[in-house]
Amino acid sequence: MLGGCLPIAGMDRLRKALLAPFADVEVELSFSMMGKGLPVITGTLSTQVLAECQRCLTPVELLVNSDVHLQVVVDDAAANHISDQWEPLVFGGDGQLSLAQIVEDELLVNLPAICLHEPAKCQQPDGHNELAVAADKPNPFKLLSQLKNAED
Ligand SMILES: [Zn+2]
Repeated sequence: MLGGCLPIAGMDRLRKALLAPFADVEVELSFSMMGKGLPVITGTLSTQVLAECQRCLTPVELLVNSDVHLQVVVDDAAANHISDQWEPLVFGGDGQLSLAQIVEDELLVNLPAICLHEPAKCQQPDGHNELAVAADKPNPFKLLSQLKNAED
């Protein structure tokens, strides 16, 4: 069992999705071997992050928790053959698994796609909640503007 705190400050991809300051990630992970000698990583991650609310554009505090069920595989082909209860973790060619990278990937996956305050806490005046609803659907105007940009 590996327990402790990891700083988000060193996780560049995660940091880009968040506002400063960054809390540490509480990590509790177990590394063990399965029947055929396949390493698995299980445990939990939790942290509190500050992101920008997509509705009122002020900071919103979010709790991010992750249940880790990773099975180490050598490549994408092997990843297709593991059972459903596991997420594949492709073991790169550099011969090392980076704990910080594993934690960062897990947190990125568990980060809400759209960060929003709870309605009662949001700074947006009443009657301006369209964005939260519209965000579930593709916005045709946004698609159009992307097309236009592609032509430029
Ligand atoms: Zn808000």
